[in-house]
Amino acid sequence: MLRIDDLINDAKCYESVRQLRWPHGVKCPWCKSDNVRKRGVHQRQRDRQRYRCNTCHTNFDDVTNTVLAHHHQPLRKWVLCPYLMGLHLSNEQIGQELDLNKDDVHQMTSQLRSGVVDLKPATELEGTVACDEVYIVAGHQGHPEAVKKKDEPDADVDEREIAAAARLRKKNLRFSE
Ligand SMILES: [Zn+2]
Repeated sequence: MLRIDDLINDAKCYESVRQLRWPHGVKCPWCKSDNVRKRGVHQRQRDRQRYRCNTCHTNFDDVTNTVLAHHHQPLRKWVLCPYLMGLHLSNEQIGQELDLNKDDVHQMTSQLRSGVVDLKPATELEGTVACDEVYIVAGHQGHPEAVKKKDEPDADVDEREIAAAARLRKKNLRFSE
C-alpha cells in the first residue's frame, strides 16, 4: 500500500516551516533580532537547522517555541497530521497513513488542537460596540434584598449607567412610536 508518509520528506517540511515562520529571514524567537547565525543541525533530525542569536546570545532552531518543538516524531508526520485531520480522517486512518500507533496519533492530534487554540488571538473590542439585546431590571418589587445599597465603590456609577440606559431606551421608544 502506498502511504502519503512515503511521498514527502523532512527536508522539504523544514524548508516550508522556515518559509512560513520567517518569510523575511530568520529571526530570534526570544528577542526578535535578525542578527543570527547558523549553528549546526539537530543531532537526530538532520534537516532541523540550529541558530545562535548574536543579540541575546541564545540558541534556537527551526521549531523552537512552536507546537512542533519537543516532539520525537519526524516533522513530516506533524505536517501531514493536520492535513489529514482537515480531511476528517479518524485517528485510526491517520495512524495508517502516517505509520503511527493510535496512542501517538491521539497525542499528536490533541497537541495540535490545543496549539491552534493557544495561537488564536483573544477577542478585543474597540470603538463603538453594538450588542443585540440589553436587559435592564426596572424594579425589585417583592425583593427588598436586591435593592439594598451595595458596598462596592462602583455601585453608584452602575446605577447611574443603568438609569441613563433606561432613559435612552424610553426616548428611543418614544421616537419609534
Ligand atoms: Zn535573540
